[in-house]
Amino acid sequence: MSEISKCSSDGECGSRLCYCNNVVRNRTSWTSKNLGRRFETCAKYKDEGGCHYFMWLDGGLTGPAKDAFCELKQKKEIAEEKVKILEDKLEIAADKLKIADEKVKILEEKLKMLEDNVEKKRLKIFKNVFVVIVVAMLLFVWDKKMAKGGENLYLL
Ligand SMILES: [Zn+2]
Repeated sequence: MSEISKCSSDGECGSRLCYCNNVVRNRTSWTSKNLGRRFETCAKYKDEGGCHYFMWLDGGLTGPAKDAFCELKQKKEIAEEKVKILEDKLEIAADKLKIADEKVKILEEKLKMLEDNVEKKRLKIFKNVFVVIVVAMLLFVWDKKMAKGGENLYLL
């Protein structure tokens, strides 16, 4: 591997290319054994079709730097755990929201049915009142005619 800048088929350039002609990627180890140790690998992961290129870049951290990195790793793990808990809570909240939305939809449908029923009953009452008024008017007119007819009867 030379230090002259080389470019991959994707147009990405760097000092080294891996076995499958990609510019190598610098990474940092998070394992307990090699915590904070830098290495380079193929830019693609093996399951993405990458090659097996791998090379350590340094001997790893020692002393206070290693302790600081250990602390950082623990904080990272705690943060990841918190993120996972929050993601679970978010998922539960999303499920509850979905259930609540469905309940609201059902209640809205019931409300619409009730409103339709109220409207039908209002129309029925209006029809009944109308019929009563018409019958009362007919009776009134008929009563007047009868009264008139009676007078005519007396005249005869
Ligand atoms: Zn490769």
